[in-house]
Amino acid sequence: MTQTKWRSERLSLLGSSIFAEVAAWKLAALEQGLDIIDLGIGSPDQPPSPAVRQVLSEAALRSDMYAYPATKSGLPFRLHAAKWMKHRFNVELDAANEIVTLLGSQDGLAHLAMALCDPGDMALLPNPGYPIYAASLALAGVESVLMPLREENGYMPDLEAIADADWDRASFILLNYPNNPISAVADLAFFERLLAKASQHGVLVVHDLAYSEMGFDGCEPVSILEVPGAIDQAVEFHSLSKSFNMAGCRIGFLAGNQTAVGALRELKANIDYGVFDPIQEAGIAALEEAIVNPELPKAGKLYEQRRDLFIEALREEGWPIAKPKATMFIWAQLPPMQWSLEEPWTSRRISQEMLRQTGVVVVPGEAFGTEGEGFVRIALVESEERLVEAAKRIGSFIRGS
Ligand SMILES: *Cc1c(COP(=O)(O)O)cnc(C)c1O
Repeated sequence: MTQTKWRSERLSLLGSSIFAEVAAWKLAALEQGLDIIDLGIGSPDQPPSPAVRQVLSEAALRSDMYAYPATKSGLPFRLHAAKWMKHRFNVELDAANEIVTLLGSQDGLAHLAMALCDPGDMALLPNPGYPIYAASLALAGVESVLMPLREENGYMPDLEAIADADWDRASFILLNYPNNPISAVADLAFFERLLAKASQHGVLVVHDLAYSEMGFDGCEPVSILEVPGAIDQAVEFHSLSKSFNMAGCRIGFLAGNQTAVGALRELKANIDYGVFDPIQEAGIAALEEAIVNPELPKAGKLYEQRRDLFIEALREEGWPIAKPKATMFIWAQLPPMQWSLEEPWTSRRISQEMLRQTGVVVVPGEAFGTEGEGFVRIALVESEERLVEAAKRIGSFIRGS
């Protein structure tokens, strides 16, 4: 018998191919010997605190840490997650039923639609949006209706512009503030309006709060669960990756509505056996450190300094960009360029050309959806010195255009 296909059609629905393209451009530039400054990846470049690394090392040496984590309750981590949510947002949660531990929030986001929906259901997603959102729906055979995030609405979805029929049909609406890639921040008034609308139509609100500890200029990002009664209608993803520089550890949690949290827990019980116990111990240490040492600088502090430096350097190079209030990303509208008058270049083409000529890697906005065209996402994940160097190279690229 001849070989049948060993690759599902489903895989073709996953994410944008642009990230793979950017990786290929980078490889080509490396092969040509270019000095690469990679501002494309969204992975923090700092380690977790020494205390967290100490706890992780000591736990790893213990002989009782190597069973399937799921054979224990996993409750200590969830209790600490609840304690931190109370400390940070004044939100009360029942750790046993309203929190599920995740192998990073990506794990939860990827499996969410499968846990909550049936094939043919529909969910409301932001455009631009973090790629796993659409991928999660594709894996579950769930349809999406996209909500454009535009400057004229402060990069919030226009809730009134979504048709009532779509509100009625939607299982859940997924949003992310502080936003990746846009860096926009939401306030409690927006979440109140969103929850009111969602509860009218029986729609679950899913909020991805990966950047809660990366607010700038005194901005403290809010949790949707702070809105009274939100627990009836909402769940929220939290990630220790960005908040405590633990991206490689793979730990996060989903908190909120018991039915939705329970559905994800039930699905995951069939897929994985939990987060490695030493990593749960390290997670507890990170949350505890933030609670007992509130004066410790938050993860965002470093990015705030880099943001100021980089935005100023780019402005001097003739590319003015508004300062983002949060996250480690700059969502930069492309400057007008000489050659673009004759033949308009897409953000993809510009990113490719910029990398080829300067070695600076950025992500074309269209990687996050059609509304991202005309923008690039620049991650502040290199040292101040390298960021200034990147701004200089970008400047000469723009002028040379
Ligand atoms: C980085 C990121 C995540 C994934 O974080 P993990 O917890 O490491 O899986 C989720 N959502 C957004 C918006 C992110 O930027």
